[in-house]
Amino acid sequence: MSLLVRNGRIITAADDYVADLYIHGEKVTLIGTKLDVEAEEVIDASGKFVFPGGVDPHVHLDLPVGAVISSDDYETGTRAAACGGTTTVLDFPTQERGRSLFEALELWHQKAHGKACVDYGFHMIVCDLPPGREAELDKLVEEGVPSIKLFTAYPDRLYVDDATLYRVMRRAADLGAVVMMHAENGIVIDEIVRAACAEGHTEPRWHALTRPTLMEGEAVHRCVAIARVAGAVLYVVHMSSAAALEPLRAARDRGQLVFGETCPQYLLLDHSLYEKPGFEGAKWVMTPPLRSKSDQAELWKALHMGDLQTVGTDHCPFCMADKERGRDSFVKIPNGAPGIENRMALLFHAGVRTGALTLNRFVQVTSTNAAKIFGLFPRKGTIAVGSDADLVIFDPERKETISVNNPRTHHMRVDYSAYEGFTVHGYPDTVVLRGQVIVRDGEFVGRPGCGQFLARKPFEEAVI
Ligand SMILES: [Zn+2]
Repeated sequence: MSLLVRNGRIITAADDYVADLYIHGEKVTLIGTKLDVEAEEVIDASGKFVFPGGVDPHVHLDLPVGAVISSDDYETGTRAAACGGTTTVLDFPTQERGRSLFEALELWHQKAHGKACVDYGFHMIVCDLPPGREAELDKLVEEGVPSIKLFTAYPDRLYVDDATLYRVMRRAADLGAVVMMHAENGIVIDEIVRAACAEGHTEPRWHALTRPTLMEGEAVHRCVAIARVAGAVLYVVHMSSAAALEPLRAARDRGQLVFGETCPQYLLLDHSLYEKPGFEGAKWVMTPPLRSKSDQAELWKALHMGDLQTVGTDHCPFCMADKERGRDSFVKIPNGAPGIENRMALLFHAGVRTGALTLNRFVQVTSTNAAKIFGLFPRKGTIAVGSDADLVIFDPERKETISVNNPRTHHMRVDYSAYEGFTVHGYPDTVVLRGQVIVRDGEFVGRPGCGQFLARKPFEEAVI
């Protein structure tokens, strides 16, 4: 297969130029102006941007949460990702307490195999690792999973104590594995939740009222300090508040290898959505919850200034019938919201159009930085000779209104949109995965199973 993309405005983390791209097989093999080559397919990208395929470092597909399962599986979730311009997703096999990490890894390989429409890799959620079993982490890294996620939230399910945190971080430091943290003080939060329930509070808005930003900040501070002592590379997922940013900034200013991720929902939505009438607020019950407008402003600033490095979606959708399980109490609402499809267009619209992000910064936070931090660069995250030909041909003039009823913006298997009614100016037209056109004029034309598992490299010194 060969493909020629003519006259696109190519944007990478550092470059901005108009050129032709020639793709032979799965790789970009030639870049130049007025290339004199024949190709089986030619795409005219005049007037369009050509971005590296998006890398979403944080998704949950086919994830059991209590009695329910996140509604997108590998086929529907990655198809939606592709339509939105994301060609690589990183998901989270979840260890069951007391069981081997490799059971979870095997299970997630099965979930993805033959179904994934974009390339994928895994971070391993570790919820216990008794002394003596640390060698499992070595094998994990050998199998291409050099990142481990730990929780200081959810004491009843995923929480790890500080001893486990330290033990995993120590081993991860030796292995070049990145430690990812869901940083919220779940012990204190659970006390606040119990008290709210005892007072008879049941509505969705109590989900947000019981999770103060200071408890996010406290956990970030603690994780940063333990990672510093352990010598581990730290990546804090879904940062949502100014209180959380403070210890991250301080650590980075000291020169500690700490990275921060935020999500479109924390940049674009705020806690006033929980005040919607009836049960509607349940649509945005996610953890951490939506925060205030002033938190939003701080997150944008941090993204702009380089204190935050990536934007992931934390895509974890549930249909309203599943959300209804929490009708009589907010604690029973499955936590999570859809967004895998909307990330690139939302960030372009709300970031690039407003001047909050330059084009290069947009590429950094949606693709390059995640590829670098998670051992995929330069195969992914850039447009260069020898890199995978993962491309988004993006029409800056196309307007779409994101809606569950708009089939061009909603391929996710969930019966609502978290961004219902948002009009975005700029949208992906054509998406290429390793040289294959998988989205054409906004329609998915790839096939389930065309996405491959990405065995990733351990962390290499990358100051981002
Ligand atoms: Zn998550």
